[in-house]
Amino acid sequence: MASKTLSIKKNILSANAEKADETRGLLDNSNILMINIMSSPGSGKTSLLMQTISHFKDKYGIAVIEGDVASSIDADKILSQSIPAVQINTGGGCHLDANMVRNAIEKFDLNKTDIIFIENVGNLVCTADFDLGSHKNAVILSIPEGDDKPRKYPTMFAEADIVLVNKIDVLPHFDFDIAAFPELITGFNPSADVLLVSTKTGEGMDKWFSWIEAGLKEKIKIH
Ligand code: MG
Ligand code: ZN
Repeated sequence: MASKTLSIKKNILSANAEKADETRGLLDNSNILMINIMSSPGSGKTSLLMQTISHFKDKYGIAVIEGDVASSIDADKILSQSIPAVQINTGGGCHLDANMVRNAIEKFDLNKTDIIFIENVGNLVCTADFDLGSHKNAVILSIPEGDDKPRKYPTMFAEADIVLVNKIDVLPHFDFDIAAFPELITGFNPSADVLLVSTKTGEGMDKWFSWIEAGLKEKIKIH
């Protein structure tokens, strides 16, 4: 029984990976960078996105795919920025998959789009198992969650291209070993960048913006 369950999961994931590769090809042809943002609920995905959109929306064509279990609270916030946004309501589902994202992308005008951000469902467990066709994975961990999260959810941190440590402004109130943290991440994932940010005070956000623009330049050079 266990092996049957495993092979079903394998089939689902390989069909998903195929769809994701196809999506990446489509985005590459249009010179679009897609970034998948993952974290637990409450780490600051929507706040990070709101600031990122305000920073870039006059310079680049930005579109957002909002993954939500039930409500449209986050999607409504994003739409208030007057950019194209599509909400995927998973109806209780705990992650997005490549098909859902592809259907959302079909609704954007790709000729007017430079960057697509995905706000994944707030969940560190299985979101990282599903390749969505993005070029970069950004994982947010906030200070109140504790510095042991990477040990508890190693897959998530192994799949990250960048780890944003958010709410750095509340560091004095928590036992979060910030000095040791970058090395901890390197242990799981030697190529991941680690950035300390506060979406509240704006600290470190310039580095996040530069990281995004570096990703865009990299794309344009390749294609
Ligand atoms: Mg959110
Ligand atoms: Zn899931």
